[in-house]
Amino acid sequence: MKNNDKKLVLFDIDGTLIHPGNGAKRALSKTILKNFGIKIKVTYENTAGKTDRWIIKDILLESGVEQNIIDEKMGKIIDDYLTFIKEEYNKDNDAKVFEGIFELLEKLNKIENVYLGLLTGNVEHGARIKLSPFNLNRFFPFGAFGSDGMYRDGLVEVALKRAKHLYGISFYGKNLVIIGDTVNDVTCGKKFNAKSIAVVRRPEYLEKVKKAKPDFLFTEFEEIDKVVGAILL
Ligand SMILES: [Mg+2]
Repeated sequence: MKNNDKKLVLFDIDGTLIHPGNGAKRALSKTILKNFGIKIKVTYENTAGKTDRWIIKDILLESGVEQNIIDEKMGKIIDDYLTFIKEEYNKDNDAKVFEGIFELLEKLNKIENVYLGLLTGNVEHGARIKLSPFNLNRFFPFGAFGSDGMYRDGLVEVALKRAKHLYGISFYGKNLVIIGDTVNDVTCGKKFNAKSIAVVRRPEYLEKVKKAKPDFLFTEFEEIDKVVGAILL
């Protein structure tokens, strides 16, 4: 393969690799209750596609907490969240890896010119906690995380810089592949002309994600050869 055939494939975590179950939501609720005495409802709608800090900021602003207080306490909030998620994540045993993911990652991992990374709104420590029970961290030597920036668009740049530092390769255009389940995952790589692959398992979000024009759209990663084909194309 030519040098320009080397591909960086960046995976989102929640809704893409795994269903995180209720432990992470509970950890966030407990954190907000502890720090602000506010009871919040954590839903797919107010979390999907956002970074941890973005989720927390929006929820607190909606609850009437002032921006400067949020900024001041954010470090402590994240620390508490990480403590709670360690306790809560495996309690119900309801987190699961989506069908086809192990097979897909094993296949990609064996292709010499494919480099895998994470692109997720989770702060890094939280991301590793979520993947650890499934032994998925081994596939992802690096990534860009919610701890690197507030918004997903900026995280792509961080991932590219890390890839360059680790492998000495500048990935761009169709050699940068971004895989995720929300509109934000589809749009975040546009300025780099990245290839976007969406996997939308919730039918009610299909139209919305479709409108963001991903290069490929799947409703499940069942036919792994088709997914690998889309990545390598
Ligand atoms: Mg997601």
